[in-house]
Amino acid sequence: MIRLIKGFHDILPDETRKWGFIVRTAADTLERFGFREIITPVMERTELFERGIGQVTDIVEKEMYTFEDRGGDTLSLRPEATAGILRSVVEHSLLRRDAVLKVYTIGPMFRRERPSKGRFRQFFQINAEVLGDDSPYTDAEAIAAAHSIMANIGASGLMMEINSVGCQQCRGDFRAKLRDYIEPHLDELCPDCKRRYDTNPLRILDCKVDRCVEIAKQAPMIIDSLDAGCKEHFHKVQETLSLLDVPYHIEPRMVRGLDYYTRTAFEIIHGELGRSKAVGGGGRYDTLIKELGGPDASGIGFAIGLERLAMGLSDEDPRYARSMDVYVAILGKNAGNEGVRLVNLLRGSGISTETRYTGTSLKAQMKVADKVWAKKVLMLGDDELSRREVTVRDMQTGDQCTVGIDDIVSYLQGDKR
Ligand code: AMP
Repeated sequence: MIRLIKGFHDILPDETRKWGFIVRTAADTLERFGFREIITPVMERTELFERGIGQVTDIVEKEMYTFEDRGGDTLSLRPEATAGILRSVVEHSLLRRDAVLKVYTIGPMFRRERPSKGRFRQFFQINAEVLGDDSPYTDAEAIAAAHSIMANIGASGLMMEINSVGCQQCRGDFRAKLRDYIEPHLDELCPDCKRRYDTNPLRILDCKVDRCVEIAKQAPMIIDSLDAGCKEHFHKVQETLSLLDVPYHIEPRMVRGLDYYTRTAFEIIHGELGRSKAVGGGGRYDTLIKELGGPDASGIGFAIGLERLAMGLSDEDPRYARSMDVYVAILGKNAGNEGVRLVNLLRGSGISTETRYTGTSLKAQMKVADKVWAKKVLMLGDDELSRREVTVRDMQTGDQCTVGIDDIVSYLQGDKR
């Protein structure tokens, strides 16, 4: 037997209804906020991610699936969606057509992380971006959209954790302060953080190694280094979130794992999963589009992880429970052809219908009907066939009646209405 790649996972038929429900709800919610779908390839040139995400990030340094293809190009499976979306927006000059562009995509991302519960090497994200608008109202609206997706899916105990990571200017000042604080602890840091001290000290605040976490706890906070413009922007975002009734709280130590964020950063905490596992996050990026060769336009986006979202939802829920309108039990030797015709007629009339051709006993077929959550069973045996009738059993009440074969579609359609 050839097994699945480590850290990858199958989404089996018992789970796909829940999965589909999440995808549909997210897409419907985003469309209601004015987002339109964009679909970009799962693979891009490696340099796009190096430029877009930042070379000194865990994702680019350690986690990308990168390889040389047969033509000698260096390519990577996308570890996140924003860089690819922005590449597409710039390449097709979409911001020339729409000064403000709102797009979303839902699909697989790839990161070679250490697999654990809720952490995979291929995982799905719902990703949304608002481009071309730097208003703090837009930040609040993006956070509200993320919150609305979660609320419509039925997630409980939601909290939006927000912070401001400032602009390039504030970050420069903060980096200097952070280095001053870290310097006496340099020997205690993990080898990665020792290197990050020179290359990108902010990443130290994101390290998961125990001793580094301890040191980071006492570090200065970026929120204390914000300039007047960034402070005012952040204040307005908070005020708007209150206005929109979005529950939030300020998490002054949040920096997020990607380099490109400026000003607002946020994470979505789902009560049932606990704060160690954010279900999503995002932030503003005011220079990234330009860095990728586009116009001087700002953006804000977020990503929600589908696996973690699905983990917080029950498998049994009437909103996505499995069910069929009808199970046709073909009984007796002569009912085969009429049974096939009937099944085909029902399906063609918009009635979901299941059957088994290797007809066994009625008892065995009733078990199948139960398993597929059929609302009604139509029994077609030799007797019924001779009278051109079917026996209809309502699976909830147990009531039975007979209906002429020629009237069955209108009978069931009346039932559906
Ligand atoms: P990020 O793109 O790192 O900000 O992640 C956004 C969301 O994607 C997280 O909150 C998770 O829900 C999800 N996510 C990120 N990495 C993984 C992973 N390796 N496995 C499963 N979900 C992930």
